[in-house]
Amino acid sequence: MQSSHDQHSHSHSHGHSQVAEDMLTVEEALERIMASFAPLDAEDKPILECLGQVLAENVSSPLDLPPLANSGMDGYALIHSDIQGASSANPSQLTVIGTVAAGHVSSQRVTPGTAIRIMTGAPVPDGADTVIPFEETDEVERRKSGKTLDEIGIQADLPKYCNVRPAGEDVQEGQLVLTAGTVVRAAEVGVLASLGLSQAKVIRRPVVSILSTGDELESEGQPLGPGKIYDANSSGVAASVISAGGIPRVLGIARDNLEDLRRKLEQVAGSDLLITSAGVSKGDYDIVKDVLTQQGDMNFWSVRMRPAKPLAFGRLNYSGQKSVPLLGLPGNPVSAMVAFEMFGRPAISTMLGRGALARPMVEGILTGPIYNGDGRRVYARVEVEFREGVYYATPPGPQGSNILTSMSRANGLAICPADEPSKAAGARVSIIMLDWNEEVAV
Ligand code: AMP
Ligand code: MG
Repeated sequence: MQSSHDQHSHSHSHGHSQVAEDMLTVEEALERIMASFAPLDAEDKPILECLGQVLAENVSSPLDLPPLANSGMDGYALIHSDIQGASSANPSQLTVIGTVAAGHVSSQRVTPGTAIRIMTGAPVPDGADTVIPFEETDEVERRKSGKTLDEIGIQADLPKYCNVRPAGEDVQEGQLVLTAGTVVRAAEVGVLASLGLSQAKVIRRPVVSILSTGDELESEGQPLGPGKIYDANSSGVAASVISAGGIPRVLGIARDNLEDLRRKLEQVAGSDLLITSAGVSKGDYDIVKDVLTQQGDMNFWSVRMRPAKPLAFGRLNYSGQKSVPLLGLPGNPVSAMVAFEMFGRPAISTMLGRGALARPMVEGILTGPIYNGDGRRVYARVEVEFREGVYYATPPGPQGSNILTSMSRANGLAICPADEPSKAAGARVSIIMLDWNEEVAV
């Protein structure tokens, strides 16, 4: 299992101990990357499309909510002093002068001795201060005995103002309701709609160009030629970008030649980020590195982690246009996904205005060992189960960085620290939860 790990980085290493190489820790790499990202500019858009984005300005209410005092029950709007001491044995008889339904304002006024039949949500008529629900009246008996409803017997002396929802009870006109920086969830969409606001100003989503590199790659849906493999990363990374809140712009596959790569890079201008995969291993002769270096300010790093040791980060320059930050993920699909989780996700959440976020972590117990052969922090794919108050993490088999199905079987990454040679079954372990949506600051 261990020997299949990161084969490309073994075969391209300089022949001396990998621990001795000047490797960056995950935190050092993250810090250098995050220095390049800040919240993007704002856009106005329909409120439903704002879901998951961050408000760019405070929202104050243009109105009272509810706009008018209204009834919280179906019942009778009346004057409380008319029903003092009322009970089923001694009901207060009132004259019913009208009915008001939700969405209509009664033109009548409740005066002493009268009541207006009222539905839930209907504005409370002038003069009335209290609503007594149908259940506390003789309405049902009157109907049964064929009597009209021009009179009603109130059978309970409920407190004054009961079932009257005052105007502005929820929100008052001019009140600050949502603050800049708030993430728009379903509740916020509903609040904006309740204020009558059809548009909101939110920090826009980053457009993330995605480029796979390699002569061996073929797109899914195409016939597979000899020696070729399907390109897992264009779609896999695009899906990760969507899950992080970005807008993927899939550029396809750049072949390992100067012209093709340069042509693809031209299409990147205007993006907020370019994520490439493959061609960034240290000690690797690769066209990708040459071209990126010519067109930008690039760093090629080894990160003290497994999988995903090789990583590139820098900026691509476009004359007359903004430079574009570039995150170069390793080619192996598992490495690409894990590196995206560590570095791509917080970069995107920062551009979204949410701060640098990562998946949440839990503490659990390993049910099988994790090995750490060469002093890197291991992110082992695990299947996490919650049983009787404990998270159990089970490595689902081969952990090679080319074994993408193991990523599909896993819902977590269990961590073996760089300086621990292994973690045995039964050991306590920190686990990154890959299928939990709530995120935490990194
Ligand atoms: P490289 O970084 O170019 O040495 O690639 C490392 C390994 O990842 C090689 O085995 C590649 O064939 C493989 N690889 C690179 N890109 C992809 C991709 N988009 N989909 C699947 N495998 C890939
Ligand atoms: Mg390659």
